[in-house]
Amino acid sequence: MQITAMPNRQSSAVSSAPSTPSRASRSAHDRPPRRQRGLAAVAQLLALLALAGLVGLAGWLGYRYTFDAALARQAERGQVQLRLYGQALSSELARYDFVPSLLSLDDEISALLARPDDPARVAAANAHLAAVNTRAGTLAVFVLDRQGRVRATSNWQRPDSYLGEDLSFRPYFQAAIDGQLGRFYGVGTTRDESGYYLSAPLGNGNGQRPSGVAVVKVGLEPLEQRWQTADMQMLLSDENGVVILASEPSWKLRARRPLSAAQRERLNRSLQYNRAPLDPLEFTRVRAMNNGDALVRMRRGPSMLEQNAMLPGTEWQLTLLTDTSQARMAALNTAALCGVLTAFVLLLGAAWNVRRRIVSERLAARAALEAANSELERKVAERTADLTSANHLLQTEIAERIRTERELRQAQDGLLQAGKLAAVGQMSTGIAHELNQPLAALRTLSGNTQKFLARGDLATAQANLGTIIGLVEKMGRITGALKSFARKPGRNGKGSALLADAIDNALFLLETRVQAVRPEIVRDVDRTLMVACDPNRLEQVLVNLIGNALDAMAADPAKRPPRLELRAAVAEGMVRCTIRDNGPGLSEEAFARLFEPFFTTKPAGQGLGLGLTLSAGILDEYGGTLIASNHPDGGACFTMVLPMAGKETHDGAHTQ
Ligand code: ADP
Repeated sequence: MQITAMPNRQSSAVSSAPSTPSRASRSAHDRPPRRQRGLAAVAQLLALLALAGLVGLAGWLGYRYTFDAALARQAERGQVQLRLYGQALSSELARYDFVPSLLSLDDEISALLARPDDPARVAAANAHLAAVNTRAGTLAVFVLDRQGRVRATSNWQRPDSYLGEDLSFRPYFQAAIDGQLGRFYGVGTTRDESGYYLSAPLGNGNGQRPSGVAVVKVGLEPLEQRWQTADMQMLLSDENGVVILASEPSWKLRARRPLSAAQRERLNRSLQYNRAPLDPLEFTRVRAMNNGDALVRMRRGPSMLEQNAMLPGTEWQLTLLTDTSQARMAALNTAALCGVLTAFVLLLGAAWNVRRRIVSERLAARAALEAANSELERKVAERTADLTSANHLLQTEIAERIRTERELRQAQDGLLQAGKLAAVGQMSTGIAHELNQPLAALRTLSGNTQKFLARGDLATAQANLGTIIGLVEKMGRITGALKSFARKPGRNGKGSALLADAIDNALFLLETRVQAVRPEIVRDVDRTLMVACDPNRLEQVLVNLIGNALDAMAADPAKRPPRLELRAAVAEGMVRCTIRDNGPGLSEEAFARLFEPFFTTKPAGQGLGLGLTLSAGILDEYGGTLIASNHPDGGACFTMVLPMAGKETHDGAHTQ
């Protein structure tokens, strides 16, 4: 069991700060609920969609406007081109109008029609027609009789010549025999060669029925070739809607509108297209325009602007198809520009809005900050006032404390002095005894010395005087030790003392009591060991502890041979000095109340119950402790712990 004399320093209670909500719970509280976040996300999405929609709309409007404007310009250019091409085509066809009529004036032809079976006339007519054909630059020129049989032809020399063929089924024959000019586009039945047939009645003067028909076949391919070089598509469809000329060769002889069964039957009969399949050539109409033009697309091809014009004097229709990709490109560019501009304007608006919001938020934050600031200032002022009053209170308390402490120290000093005086009182019997003995010896010796002097025995008198001086010195030492013990030391918690010397002085002061108990003293203390303590105070502690040990051993009911152990050791800069006796040891009650002032088990007049209390106080003052324990082998054991103060050197100075 151990008891330390360290005053129980109460740890100041740390007042915990008022509990604040944890960061997690606070942030959870601050966070907007999930529903609100969801709504915000939906609103953002809608805003984005609206933005995209507006950008798309602007792009579409820009596209539409530019495309329509570009198409209108293209249509204007197309109309001009169409007119030009139409005129070119009409004049090309008109170039040959005169040829069949001219033949009615020819004698060879008139002679032939008068006697069509005359080989000489046929030969002459053939030669004439061949010459006309070459001159006019036509494909063929031929003459039919009233029955529709070819009687003379420019190509009479060729093996597939028309000569003798019955072409009465041809519409151009029908028209001419009815006295009109026939115009007909057809595919030749002999050579499958397409051409433009012009026919005129022969010998129908004076209201007579025509005696025959003159026919000129014109090739239109040179025109077609001119079209093919142009950067657009052209086609010419005849009265049946069949394409007879086209810049694209595959379009030829295809029907631009569906042919009824009756029509097909009629065409088959007239062999106008020589039984060509007349597959439909249909353009998908993308958009019809106001002026009759249309945007068309052929299968998956690009869209084209279709413009039509009737060829004057015919039922033929000239169609111009121009590529719209340039207009589309321009429209796409405008659309992109519009989209980008709209997006820019919208984003600018959004940025401005965000900025406005940030500014208003900042203003609100500044206002909140100012409010918080003034609130803080108010609180600080309040708190300062509180603190000032608390400070006043504290200062008053401190002054009170200092005063109390001073009083306490005075009381403690008084107690200390009382303790010392008590010890002196305890020692007084012994001291009286110590002093009485040399005094009695002095009396006897001084009497004897007088006698020896009277006898003249100076040598013995001299010796006696030496003994007297020794006795007086001993008495002086005793009174000197008492004087220094009873002296009031300075109180500053400073100083250092040789432990061994302090033990010597304590034992000297307790000499009489030691003599009375006669313990075996075991001493193991380094003579040079110094402790940080005033020497007088250290002696006082040692006198108390050794005195208690002597008392305990004297009062030991077991009457063991007394043994006092004094040992000192150094550990971690502290000196541990143990005073152990082999008395009865500390009782349980003594343990519990050991350091209580005025606790004593000694009979009245012998103890005040202040020794241990004061000793512990002195050690504490010098940064030390007093530890009380019972030794396992019996007896009490007090350990004095003090900071080491360095060792004494040989010349008496000490090192720190
Ligand atoms: P006092 O000596 O005046 O009684 P102390 O404070 O010195 O006062 O001691 C208090 C009590 O502690 C003593 O009365 C005694 O009962 C007990 N005590 C002190 N030292 C010893 C010891 N060495 N052996 C047994 N008891 C002791």
